[in-house]
Amino acid sequence: PGSYVFKVNSTNRDGVWSEHPREILVIISPPFWRTWWAYVLCGVLLFALFFTLRSVMLFRLRMRNQLHFDQMERVKQEEISRSKMQFLSNISHEIKTPLTMIMAPLEKLTHTSLDEAQKKQFSFIQKSAQRLLSLFNQLLEVQKIEDGQWRLKAQKTEIVQFLREIVTLFQDAAEEKKIEISFEAVCDEFEAWVDRSKMDTVVFNLLSNALKFTPQKGLITLSVSINPEKSKFFPFGFFEISVADTGIGINEEHLARIFERFYQVKMNDSECQAGTGIGLHLVKQLVDMHHGSIHVDSRKGEGSLFVLRFPLGDQTFNAEELSGAETMQRDEKHSWILSDISSLEKVITQEGVQHEPGDARSVILVIEDDPDILNYIESEFLSEFDIMKANDGNEGWNQAVEKLPDLIISDVMMPGLDGISLCRKIKSTFETSHIPVILLTASGSVEKEIEGYEAGADAYIHKPFHPSLLELKVKKIIEIREGLKHQFSKGFSFIASDMVLTSADEKFLQRAIDYVKDHLADSTLSTEQMGKYLGISRVHLYRKLKALTNQVPTEFIRTIRLKQAAYLLAQKKLNISEIAYKVGFNSHQYFTNSFQKYYNMSPTEYSKQNENE
Ligand code: ADP
Repeated sequence: PGSYVFKVNSTNRDGVWSEHPREILVIISPPFWRTWWAYVLCGVLLFALFFTLRSVMLFRLRMRNQLHFDQMERVKQEEISRSKMQFLSNISHEIKTPLTMIMAPLEKLTHTSLDEAQKKQFSFIQKSAQRLLSLFNQLLEVQKIEDGQWRLKAQKTEIVQFLREIVTLFQDAAEEKKIEISFEAVCDEFEAWVDRSKMDTVVFNLLSNALKFTPQKGLITLSVSINPEKSKFFPFGFFEISVADTGIGINEEHLARIFERFYQVKMNDSECQAGTGIGLHLVKQLVDMHHGSIHVDSRKGEGSLFVLRFPLGDQTFNAEELSGAETMQRDEKHSWILSDISSLEKVITQEGVQHEPGDARSVILVIEDDPDILNYIESEFLSEFDIMKANDGNEGWNQAVEKLPDLIISDVMMPGLDGISLCRKIKSTFETSHIPVILLTASGSVEKEIEGYEAGADAYIHKPFHPSLLELKVKKIIEIREGLKHQFSKGFSFIASDMVLTSADEKFLQRAIDYVKDHLADSTLSTEQMGKYLGISRVHLYRKLKALTNQVPTEFIRTIRLKQAAYLLAQKKLNISEIAYKVGFNSHQYFTNSFQKYYNMSPTEYSKQNENE
């Protein structure tokens, strides 16, 4: 491109050049990219590019920082939330103990004669205490899920009846609030695999929320339906539980977050802000454990609908999730709240041990670090038993060895020697292994309970315990022990396993019986010899035999002699004198007298009776 001058000169025929060459100006214009405006444009574009690049870089940097910040924030939130949980679950244990002290005597009081107004007041206190208890249980449950301690134990369950029963529990509260609560099911019954106690928590929470957030004259509907069609998420079909209410509803901005732990929708000052923000979080976790899904649909001011779907059949669950059925009963969390108290009491009055007047009172050792509970248990049992008290595991252990009580009630969590270790020690020590142990605990964990039973505990009771339940357990255990002791003295058995409950005691008693049987003919058989053979002192032998058979060693030896005599009499191969001699009686008369006293008939009569039979 540029400006050029094209010059043309010419000659004539004679070669004379013209003096005036001709010129043409030629201007070649540049291509468009080399024009000035192209440069300007280019400059502008470059600048714009640079600006954009810089902005993008800045934006990405800012995003990265934001992400990092969010992450830090989330970690921090998580940490706060975890320590909040930890703190709450720690104090839950602490609070469950005094709660026992409120609920147990209250339970007793409600059964005394009260007028209507008092009854109302008591039931109000009771309801509040129960609410407090279920709140703490919820906290502990969330903690347990997070620690991986709480696993699903699915059981085949008839769902319609199961849900109907839960709805019934809300009927009174709904009526009080003038809310209609209804239950709808597409069929009369169907079975599915669910963990009953966890499912109970799920439905319980949803209905509680619906009741809490629905004003008067509202309507709550729980419905259940089945969809057997296979889908990607539910390859074996699903059943659906939905809880609909006509309550205050939830704003869209909160919907996605209500399943977060501790998340609560902020209320106006005029509306009350109750709850902890844990309920729905727990619900979500439990639904996930069931391999199900939860979905919420809600509009502010119109109401909410929670839709839960759970797999049909048991194919979705793994073997471990299906194997816990037998431990279910012990895991039934609401069982005590919902348990039919009156039926429990009927059992007690029908089956309770009637202490014959003149019977020596059984001695119970109560080991508990909380003085209030200690005194409470003492006051409960004082009328029928002699009570010894210890404030911690070590003191309890010393008293157990020294005094050999008939039964021990021990707390699990104690300073020093804890209840489970104490129980293990008691059961593995020769002198004490026969003493039944009841463990009391504020922890609802099944694992702990299993640990307790493995340590040899005879019963495991959760706090807050039902006083009638503890009473029933104590009486039953003592009754069984008494029965076993009688079995030896009155029965004909020579087999130790029929008479004792722990294997160490069984071994000991069988060795003692066998020793005496092997030396029956020896009329001089002494307790020293027996103790030496069994490897224990006379005092220990005395105490142990008394505890297991209610007999002192000389009585014990005589009983075995007489039992063997009865056996030989029934066989009729020997005469009475021979038998008396064979079982170690030197004098015929002494044998006859002893036999008469023991069997309430003379050897001759006994022999005759067996003949008739
Ligand atoms: P909270 O103990 O506070 O009830 P939840 O986890 O059960 O904790 O519920 C979280 C929040 O979700 C509640 O604070 C409440 O605002 C909202 N919410 C839950 N269920 C309903 C419902 N049926 N109707 C309206 N709001 C609800």
